[in-house]
Amino acid sequence: MSGIEAAHVLIDHPKAAKWLKEQERVIVPPWIRAVQGADLPMRSRPGSRQMESAQLIELFDSVIAATETGDTPKLDAAIQALVTDRLGKGYSLGDFLFVANQLKSAIWKAAQESLSSRETIEVLAALEPLFAHSVARLAWLASRAAENQLEEELERTRFMLAKLDRVKSDFINIAAHELKTPLTLVQGYTAILGSELAGQRHLRTILRGLASGIKRLQTLIQDMLDVSLIDSNVLTLSLQPASLYEIIRLAVDDLEQEAVDRQLIIQISQFPREVNSVYIDSQRMYQVFTNLIGNAIKYTPDGGTIGVHARVLNIVEGDSQFVEVIVTDTGIGIEAEDLPHIFNKFYRIGETELHSTSKTQFKGGGPGLGLAIVKGIVEAHGGRIWAESPGCDEVQCPGSNFHVVLPIHVELPESPSQRLLGLEGETMKESP
Ligand code: ADP
Repeated sequence: MSGIEAAHVLIDHPKAAKWLKEQERVIVPPWIRAVQGADLPMRSRPGSRQMESAQLIELFDSVIAATETGDTPKLDAAIQALVTDRLGKGYSLGDFLFVANQLKSAIWKAAQESLSSRETIEVLAALEPLFAHSVARLAWLASRAAENQLEEELERTRFMLAKLDRVKSDFINIAAHELKTPLTLVQGYTAILGSELAGQRHLRTILRGLASGIKRLQTLIQDMLDVSLIDSNVLTLSLQPASLYEIIRLAVDDLEQEAVDRQLIIQISQFPREVNSVYIDSQRMYQVFTNLIGNAIKYTPDGGTIGVHARVLNIVEGDSQFVEVIVTDTGIGIEAEDLPHIFNKFYRIGETELHSTSKTQFKGGGPGLGLAIVKGIVEAHGGRIWAESPGCDEVQCPGSNFHVVLPIHVELPESPSQRLLGLEGETMKESP
């Protein structure tokens, strides 16, 4: 700041500075006493008093320099040094303002005792803009320091969270691998036992139970591995031309027995010819639709209907067209408040007791990994998934719709992970 002037008073900067210098012994000691005796953080640290006095004397010198020239670089530097040093020692903006106000009072007192009223006003007119400037600077420095501190804390928290996430993913990975190996052995021995005991019917039933338990464990372990791949962004796709209809047909065929057991009808409508041969990872896509249709079976009471429909959207992005596959059911539906969370891993809505019963019985849930994996696979294909439902009602059964939108790649895409944004809730028209 330069050329600080106060209206209506002729300010004689050198004269005011000279007076301040002369009054140093009158102003500074009571100021230091007031500051050091006050209830500031420094009180609990008697060892820092000496340094405190030196800092205050330096600050006073810089006030004299600023008064003399009307310029503030020395004052700014002294304030900066004081704030940097003292903030780390627990001072707040209020403490700094207290220090400034005490100096003002000490100067005011000395002026009253040694100057005429006019001279007092002249000296104070020279000092007032400097005080205003100092307060503004203090406030700015303190708020910037607080901001920096917050930023540092945020960074530390981010680092901790990332570390926690890595630890968790590593744990899942290791646990899954360690579980997989002995399970494969158990599966092998069970199969051998099955052929050895071919003639003994009651033992065959026991063996079937054993085999189904092993299968469930294997699925669970594979799901844990998939989730950790998706979490770490390392899910790789093997893209080959395939028919989306055939993949879904295969998923439906594999789930057919479960649907028949529960008297559920699964209807697949005709698929647009544009998706007869598209570049997708067939195995992963099979996983997507086995999960979605499997869920539809799980959450639809006996006798209900499940539908799978597809349409080409008239949205083009780059060279890609998009296909939307909708899996509908006449099941219990999903509450609006749960809809945004069902794709999060380990998110389950129903009572947890039901989760241990079966993977396919009505409402017999899994560990809440299925939809997280489905979302990861769809997004790795550059697609998008969301669910719609009027709400959850086990009597009325309002049903749920799961929408999967995928880019139609007729040639091998360079980067399959392009993101498709903002499709939710848009009116989409079928292609003619
Ligand atoms: P889970 O293994 O528990 O089925 P998912 O990730 O597949 O886990 O699904 C998460 C939750 O979303 C389920 O617990 C269920 O409450 C709800 N959900 C999924 N699909 C449907 C559906 N078709 N109808 C009703 N609720 C569903």
